[in-house]
Amino acid sequence: MTQKLKSIIYKIGFKAYKFYKVIADKRHPHFADGAVVLPTYFENRDDSGLEPYVGVVMEPAKDVVLDFGNGTTRYMVAYDDVIFVDVSKMMTALADYLKKNKVRFIKKKIHSFSQIRDKFIVNCTGIGAKELSSDDKMLSVQGHLIMLKNQKVADLQHMIFVYFKEKATKSGQKLTRSFYIFPKHLPNSGVNDVGVIGATFIKGATSLTPNQEEFDIVLKNAKEFYGLK
Ligand SMILES: Cc1cc2nc3c(=O)[nH]c(=O)nc-3n(C[C@H](O)[C@H](O)[C@H](O)COP(=O)(O)OP(=O)(O)OC[C@H]3O[C@@H](n4cnc5c(N)ncnc54)[C@H](O)[C@@H]3O)c2cc1C
Repeated sequence: MTQKLKSIIYKIGFKAYKFYKVIADKRHPHFADGAVVLPTYFENRDDSGLEPYVGVVMEPAKDVVLDFGNGTTRYMVAYDDVIFVDVSKMMTALADYLKKNKVRFIKKKIHSFSQIRDKFIVNCTGIGAKELSSDDKMLSVQGHLIMLKNQKVADLQHMIFVYFKEKATKSGQKLTRSFYIFPKHLPNSGVNDVGVIGATFIKGATSLTPNQEEFDIVLKNAKEFYGLK
């Protein structure tokens, strides 16, 4: 990534942090919910990707030892002021706010930008942009993650991210595995069905290459992290 692009991304990141911090602190005039500040653990400061935020909007990380009480300990770094955006709450609140403020939602598949008459188009069509922008270089990225059930919500008020070295899938796709956990909650699911563990990041994988075996590997990596048999 070029330095110019990085500085644009950080500028957006600083503004986004400040916006969601106001929501997390319950000071936002329109959004009462949707973001919380959570302690978050990484193996080292570089892996966190958060160092550019330290001293601008965030506090420095601390060196900590996680002790799982089963003989397994992990040396990690902790940032106490990471913002977790609860996507389902936030997106629902945002949609409600926009509807209340007379923004009209039209759901329709388009095949060309010329089908939209408005002056501005925010193109957030994901992999659909490949066709719309005639961009052959766009790749899909596949991820495997597992939603948890019947958790103690109070025990999940933190996030952990551990990244492993890049590998290749059986079919030669670039595969990055990680172990992560955070208190994701799907809309219309039980109050205790909280938490997601992951994950993979496989460049170029599609439904034709589901890489199903990765779900077992996600579980195995999670158990290994906590020292569980
Ligand atoms: C299983 C899973 C879980 C995830 N969980 C999290 C999470 O907990 N937190 C998090 O931050 N991120 C999560 N992510 C990543 C996150 O979902 C993506 O980063 C995010 O959805 C990207 O948003 P987007 O709007 O750019 O694209 P998308 O979500 O892909 O949305 C694109 C939209 O454009 C529409 N579209 C495409 N082409 C056209 C067209 N020609 N005409 C009209 N409409 C079109 C599509 O139907 C789609 O609705 C997860 C991803 C996956 C796969």
